[in-house]
Amino acid sequence: MRKCIKCGEKAQIYLPQHRLSLCKTHYIEWFENRVEKSIKEFQMFSKKEKILVAVSGGKDSLSLWQALVKLGYDADGFYIDLGIGDYSKKSFNISIAFSEKLDRTLHTVSLEDEVMSIPQIKNYDNRPTCSICGTLKRYYMNKVAKHLGYRVVATGHNLDDESAVLFSNTLNWSVDYLKRQYPVLPEENSFIRKVKPLCKISEKESAMYAVLCGIEYIEEECPFSEGATSIDYKTFLSRLEEKSPGIKLRFYSEFLRKMYPILHIGEEKPHLNRCSICGEPTTGEICSVCNLKNKLKLKAGG
Ligand code: SF4
Ligand code: ZN
Ligand code: ZN
Repeated sequence: MRKCIKCGEKAQIYLPQHRLSLCKTHYIEWFENRVEKSIKEFQMFSKKEKILVAVSGGKDSLSLWQALVKLGYDADGFYIDLGIGDYSKKSFNISIAFSEKLDRTLHTVSLEDEVMSIPQIKNYDNRPTCSICGTLKRYYMNKVAKHLGYRVVATGHNLDDESAVLFSNTLNWSVDYLKRQYPVLPEENSFIRKVKPLCKISEKESAMYAVLCGIEYIEEECPFSEGATSIDYKTFLSRLEEKSPGIKLRFYSEFLRKMYPILHIGEEKPHLNRCSICGEPTTGEICSVCNLKNKLKLKAGG
């Protein structure tokens, strides 16, 4: 029988990559300390700043929100209703119930009211759905957080997400994406600071935290995530992880430590304009969301 290395009681969790056996209480404490460690390591935010957590109803974002509140951070939630049938309805109800349990505010935006729901947009725009959805989520997160006076937006991206994106960006040598792959994107050019406090925590670890804390989260995936290549990369990396525990964390951490600084030597920051329609930052004259809205108006004849 494995014993918790902290208290000697029966261990409920064994983390091979950290060679750690922990009981429930000490796992919860370990998880929260690890979140705090990343916040400090990357100087993400302080206890004096107002933080907006992007909440999807999934295990990562809800675990992150709870851990931040328990650690004493001033963290509220932000939910974007994508209008994806039952999936959105369920995740919305779960997010609302969780905000009540935490006794923190949940701000919400409905894409159907702002633009169109994701399934409707899909009828008029044949670009990959996740890329349109990602653009819209980033846009509203930035705009709403600024409008409501938050200094930072925190997202629940975990180590599995980050290492899969890093793997894909490396396979394709997407240097511009690699340059932006850091767990903190600073506040600049009217972009609010964006942080990923779970960047060194695996999907399994955040799921365990959610289960042990009794957090109710939506288990089903968004229907549009099916067939995404990132799932293949995640599966591949997880197989490697089984053979060599800790390899994901090493791949990601060593990129940040050794490669990321090299990519920024002699770099000039791109000049950004303000969108002539909505005022949000853009490289062109009109931002991608206003462009999308114009295109949808033309196609839908509205
Ligand atoms: Fe949006 Fe794609 Fe994520 Fe679904 S899977 S929420 S469509 S980005
Ligand atoms: Zn213990
Ligand atoms: Zn715009």
